[in-house]
Amino acid sequence: MSRIEVDRERCVGSGACEALAPEVFEVDDDGVLVVHRPEPTGKELGDVEDAVQACPTRALSLAE
Ligand code: SF4
Repeated sequence: MSRIEVDRERCVGSGACEALAPEVFEVDDDGVLVVHRPEPTGKELGDVEDAVQACPTRALSLAE
């Protein structure tokens, strides 16, 4: 099982992750990232892998 880790010091609330994986990530009205599925599987996991690559501040990672 892969688990999403967010470096809150790095996240700037750009929303790039939400654009790629909207079922998993949401930037709320205060610009704070909410992770709806911390342990994604299947298609969501693929989308999260794309989001990890796309995050402009490298705030996202996947841990086993
Ligand atoms: S793409 Fe990165 S910086 Fe932007 S909201 Fe997601 S985790 Fe934060």
